[in-house]
Amino acid sequence: MPSAHHPTTILVINCGSSSIKFAVIQPQTGIELVIGQVDRLGETHPTLTWKINTKQQQLTLSRSNHTAALQKIIALIPEDLEIDAIGHRVVHGGEQFTQSVLITDDVLAGIEHCSSLAPLHNPANLAGIHAATTVFADKPQVAVFDTAFHQTLPRRAFMYAIPYEWYSQDRFRRYGFHGTSYAYVATEAAKKLSKPLGELSLIIAHLGNGCSVCAVEAGRSIDTSMGLSPLEGLVMGTRSGDVDPALHAFLATHKGWTLDRIMQALNQESGLLGLSGQSNDMRTLVSAAEQGNDRAQLAIEVFNYRLAKSIMALTTGLSQLDAIVFTGGIGENSSSTRAEVLTYLTLLQPTLDPERNAQHGTQSAGRITSDDSFPCLVIPTNEELMIARETLTLISTSTS
Ligand code: ADP
Repeated sequence: MPSAHHPTTILVINCGSSSIKFAVIQPQTGIELVIGQVDRLGETHPTLTWKINTKQQQLTLSRSNHTAALQKIIALIPEDLEIDAIGHRVVHGGEQFTQSVLITDDVLAGIEHCSSLAPLHNPANLAGIHAATTVFADKPQVAVFDTAFHQTLPRRAFMYAIPYEWYSQDRFRRYGFHGTSYAYVATEAAKKLSKPLGELSLIIAHLGNGCSVCAVEAGRSIDTSMGLSPLEGLVMGTRSGDVDPALHAFLATHKGWTLDRIMQALNQESGLLGLSGQSNDMRTLVSAAEQGNDRAQLAIEVFNYRLAKSIMALTTGLSQLDAIVFTGGIGENSSSTRAEVLTYLTLLQPTLDPERNAQHGTQSAGRITSDDSFPCLVIPTNEELMIARETLTLISTSTS
């Protein structure tokens, strides 16, 4: 529990199937005391890298499972840092979890139940929770869901036009992801625009390895481009985003591919990588395109056009629009992506300010359009801080 003696300190854990990202954060100040990650879990020699006081360190682990890795992570946290609670990123909360929750046996069963909708992600998140329970038996733990922010979508936005029973029996619907990032960025945008969150309407583009767009009205998500899974919507690093649903049948018929092969191709071999044939990394593609590489240029063009098209499509549900916000690795770092996307948004009349566009990014939030035109902003996301804040809120409410 938070004590009067030290600022509340939260361990944030983001467990993937083969990686664990972690951070020790004091949510009241936003101070990040430790940050690090374990990579290649499940292989023979996972690596643990971390940073304390800007000092980067690395270790090869001898045992390759979540509990062993987490024990190592705990061991590197300086002894004078007392952890008050643990906040976990959980990818899929289905329709059951509309907000962050303190983890109980019922909650664990609920996350387990949602595993059928996120078979690659939720089991890893659960492994992280179980490992943390072993190590921190007496500390409260909180689950923060990627899907929760989008549970405010109206049914016209979350229903697919498929037989109703597929929804009523199997819960096949649009869920949306990146919710923790959207919740954080919307809060920061309210500060930047000096407008209460409850009166704010935004389109936010989260552009990382996975990419999605979200329409926010009165501070709440009303539509988003990702769907039942994080494959739907925009062009991403290796994911196709939207394709004709009949493509699956064509691939099966013409190439004789199995469903597994098709899913691998659309998830891992498509997107920027598939189009360019070179890389899933926007940095590499921007510099290749600058040197005249046409396939890199093609990948960038399709990425930007589809993003702009999705931004305009998502304005449909909004009654007003205060700003468009870019975030995530590409959104924060790639000034050329922002500039090119704006050229398609002529109906909104944004006038890019090239100096502001070059200046703002990962280190600084700010406006990239001129003062007399439509507001477009860059706001660096911070999902770890958001998870730490949510964890603080829940442990404070549970003890008050
Ligand atoms: P994740 O979704 O894994 O959290 P990030 O949000 O860190 O990923 O985004 C990663 C992507 O950001 C990379 O694939 C890369 O394309 C892009 N990126 C990072 N730095 C730059 C840069 N300077 N210019 C363009 N793109 C960048």
